[in-house]
Amino acid sequence: MNKKRIGIFGSTGSIGKQALEVIAAHPQLFEVEVLTAHANADLLITQALQFKPNAVVIADESKYQEVKNVLFDKGIKVFAGPQAMVEVATWNTIDLVLAAIVGFAGLAPTLAAIDQGTPVALANKETLVVAGDIVMAAARKKQVPIIPVDSEHSAIFQCLQGEPLHKIEKVILTASGGPFLGKKTNYLINVKKDHALQHPNWSMGAKISIDSATLMNKGLEMIEAKWLFGLDADQIEVVIHPQSIIHSMVQFTDGSLKAQMGLPDMKLPIQYAMGYPGRLDNDFPRFSFKNYPALTFEQPDVKTFRNLAIAIEALKKGGNTACIMNAANEEVVHAFLKNRIGFLQMTEIIEETIEKIPHIELPSLHDYYQTDTAAREHATSLINSLS
Ligand code: NAD
Ligand code: MG
Repeated sequence: MNKKRIGIFGSTGSIGKQALEVIAAHPQLFEVEVLTAHANADLLITQALQFKPNAVVIADESKYQEVKNVLFDKGIKVFAGPQAMVEVATWNTIDLVLAAIVGFAGLAPTLAAIDQGTPVALANKETLVVAGDIVMAAARKKQVPIIPVDSEHSAIFQCLQGEPLHKIEKVILTASGGPFLGKKTNYLINVKKDHALQHPNWSMGAKISIDSATLMNKGLEMIEAKWLFGLDADQIEVVIHPQSIIHSMVQFTDGSLKAQMGLPDMKLPIQYAMGYPGRLDNDFPRFSFKNYPALTFEQPDVKTFRNLAIAIEALKKGGNTACIMNAANEEVVHAFLKNRIGFLQMTEIIEETIEKIPHIELPSLHDYYQTDTAAREHATSLINSLS
């Protein structure tokens, strides 16, 4: 059997590194065709020397020589810059693109891969939040599978195997609640990044960790679910489940509920997406009911964690609203990580940016790019006025 040739876009991140662990555990099934990174040249070089891809791309052009000096002799092609990332994404030597870049930067290469007809394992939820209509339409046109990597969406995808989409009554996304579950505004006003980065159940990149602490992550995931599974806003629910054992659920039109469960480990949904339509083996630790006497559930506190309420509004409103929200969110999370603004100020800036940037009902891809730029500029000016 031919090995599946994987292109990992964002190989130096949390998802990218875990994907390489999955590949290392299944050398008979997978080989690495392409690796890309933003600026971490050292790690990209180390990964390339181990996995021997055909090519690597470093988005930060100032790192090009450094990477090339080491890898050129080894017969590994080296490219630099965002445009090179998009071009490499269209190579027909890639059997599966793992979209593991964080943020809006992941949109262009992912869309390029889809337009080329390459299947995508999608971790980069922002791609669907920003331009889900365009991305899913391109995938339908090319009949390209988009296989979710996000654990909740992988859970739903697994529950849906053998089920027709039109028999979904609703999906229920589980949320751990993040490090500040149960806290109120008077507490959140003072929290700092080190605390916000401490997720109780998952170890993830910095941006998604902050999104989990604000519950924006769950809002992004509701929008992601809308596009992946063709749902209306009122078919998508969120329930807080602090143990993160049930990864999400589908309720069908006969009232039957299916859940997908397991210990929280992103390697599982990554491996499922890479192995799909097969299911691979592994020896990861197993869930035991002995260690979990109770699985508990509660309603999200959207009055305290207003980012979730904002995202639900954006989900209902449609058009470019989620794109505006996403751009502002990326800027405020960045500013919070630099200790420039407070935890609750992130929400205020996102709200003000959504109010300010003009709504577009049916945006083109060009409109989404312009919206992203305008929203970032506005959010940045608000950040500057506060810090
Ligand atoms: P991360 O910050 O750890 O890694 C991001 C990767 O993207 C790195 O390889 C980085 O070099 C690259 N990158 C960042 N900016 C870039 C740019 N401008 N151009 C090119 N490359 C760039 O992030 P992560 O936690 O691995 O998350 C990646 C994506 O997967 C996010 O969209 C996140 O929401 C999603 N996701 C992550 C997890 C998780 O457990 N980490 C779970 C579910 C979904
Ligand atoms: Mg998730």
